[in-house]
Amino acid sequence: MAMARTTALLLVAAALLAASSSAWEVNIQMPASAAVDDAVAPLIHALRPLLGSGKQAGVACDSWRLGVEAHNVRDWKTVPASCEDYVGHYMVGDHYRRDSKVVIDQAIAYVDSLKLAGNGKEVWVFDVDETTLSNLPYYAKHGFGATPFNSTSFRAYAREGSAPALPETKRLYNKLLSVGIKPVILTGRRENLRASTTTNLRSQGYSRWMKLLLKQQDFRGSSVTFKSGERQKLQDAGYIIVGNIGDQWSDILGAPEGARTFKLPDPMYYIG
Ligand SMILES: [Mg+2]
Repeated sequence: MAMARTTALLLVAAALLAASSSAWEVNIQMPASAAVDDAVAPLIHALRPLLGSGKQAGVACDSWRLGVEAHNVRDWKTVPASCEDYVGHYMVGDHYRRDSKVVIDQAIAYVDSLKLAGNGKEVWVFDVDETTLSNLPYYAKHGFGATPFNSTSFRAYAREGSAPALPETKRLYNKLLSVGIKPVILTGRRENLRASTTTNLRSQGYSRWMKLLLKQQDFRGSSVTFKSGERQKLQDAGYIIVGNIGDQWSDILGAPEGARTFKLPDPMYYIG
């Protein structure tokens, strides 16, 4: 039954992605067992009740997702098994993209409201995974976060440098370049992924960042410690962090956070 649901979900994913923006080209491989003669329309109909109604421990999956985004649900290891389909639908359907658009629209409105000094010291901090780049092709094959994170297979995927850009973030990125705010890319990826991350970002149209900051191989602190520490160094060097955006609360917590922070949606995993 679970395989049938996954197959159906991937069929829906393929249909939705085919109909979406050409900039969002996520290649989700269909399982070999996917029956070609399965009619897509009845599957969509059958899956529709799952949107928002799947439950874990008596809590609807949409309520669980809201708890995650509001940082009321913390330190979770995997998406609840009963919410795998719900999160999959959310991510590959247009809901994730719509939610991301709201965040970016607000960020751009904020940029438009700024009185910039234009002195070359104004910077904006971007996260990488699920912010500038989307790992949805990877997570679609790993239960949309319902299976435990496997750092080995994720690193292999990241080394391919094939992740698509999240188009909404790229819109903000280009807006900042146009007004003279310098992007700083700050990621929890480690230095051994610098080359593939650089290649991936460039292939997806990101360019002209001021710095790409990755974790040293032997860094053992938390994400908040690493990222706030790097932001402090920027500030100590005279830069003004006018904005900071990421998909994890650990991207935007810890002084100096930046003059304003923006949280993109991510119901697939939690990094503390
Ligand atoms: Mg991230």
